[in-house]
Amino acid sequence: MTSRSLHPAPGGQPATSDTRLPVRHLPRPATPGQWLYRERFMLARRVLQISVLVLFYGTLHAGWTLLGRPLLTGNLSSARLLGTVPLADPFAVLQMLVARHALATEVLLGAGMTLLIYLLLGGRVFCAWVCPMNIVTDAAAWSRQKLGVDTSRDLVRLPANTRYVALVMALVISALAGVAAFEAFSPIAMLHRELIYGAGIGLAASLGIWLIDTLVLHRGWCGHLCPLGAFWSLLGRVGLLKVAFDDASCTRCGDCVKSCPEPRVLHFAEIARRGMVASGECTNCGRCVAVCPESSLGFDLRLRIHPAALPGGRSVCPAPGDPS
Ligand code: SF4
Ligand code: SF4
Repeated sequence: MTSRSLHPAPGGQPATSDTRLPVRHLPRPATPGQWLYRERFMLARRVLQISVLVLFYGTLHAGWTLLGRPLLTGNLSSARLLGTVPLADPFAVLQMLVARHALATEVLLGAGMTLLIYLLLGGRVFCAWVCPMNIVTDAAAWSRQKLGVDTSRDLVRLPANTRYVALVMALVISALAGVAAFEAFSPIAMLHRELIYGAGIGLAASLGIWLIDTLVLHRGWCGHLCPLGAFWSLLGRVGLLKVAFDDASCTRCGDCVKSCPEPRVLHFAEIARRGMVASGECTNCGRCVAVCPESSLGFDLRLRIHPAALPGGRSVCPAPGDPS
């Protein structure tokens, strides 16, 4: 058994090793090609996020069609693909159900369809790959880095679990008020409305979130407050697409933890034991995969990932609180 600790050191940084291979870091990209490769997941996410917006916009304002059918109509809460396939946000539908709204079968089918897609991909794939607010919050994270604002200068401290309280509150208020509470005030819906329909206060709301994330609380919106992110996190645990982890090649350099918007999901003892990032709060953004100098992380299907074959099926160093 190795003497190496799998616990991240205090402050979220992994412990150093005396038994693993020497720690290395990826060099800064020296050519445009290297930069494109390093940023491949970020670029792919932006292409998809912007494409979804462009499809809504083009269908509404330029009448885009495919095979004579409108490409994508509606909004992020309730949409129709090719005039036929219904898509609906299951969290919005859940709020409407607890608010006792009568819903058309098509809306329920649309929610079921969306649920199926994200259950296969992993719930928070929506957050990193589709949600337009992610562009704003990633921009805020970049601004913090450029301004040298570290988490010790956060003006507010909140547990990441606050978003689950927001989720419950959204449902309770929906039930009491008889309206879908989060939908009424969602900055995501506001941003989408302003970008597609040119109406509302979505850009002002986005500026507010950018300011909060930049100056008040690191990853304040997506990482602490958004009830929609919390909803997808609950479903994310059962998603099929996972970030697989190879414990043997990992040197605990910590670059993945530093790059991750939800760093607590990269608890080394846990991911070594499971062979993957199992937490539903992982957004499948791919940042950790892109920065790992040892290729110890990579996307794979859950069914192909096997937990570490350690004595008793346990990690070499139990996570805090684990029974020994
Ligand atoms: S998984 Fe990769 S990036 Fe993360 S600590 Fe291990 S070697 Fe470093
Ligand atoms: S573990 Fe990796 S894929 Fe998951 S949120 Fe963190 S950086 Fe993104």
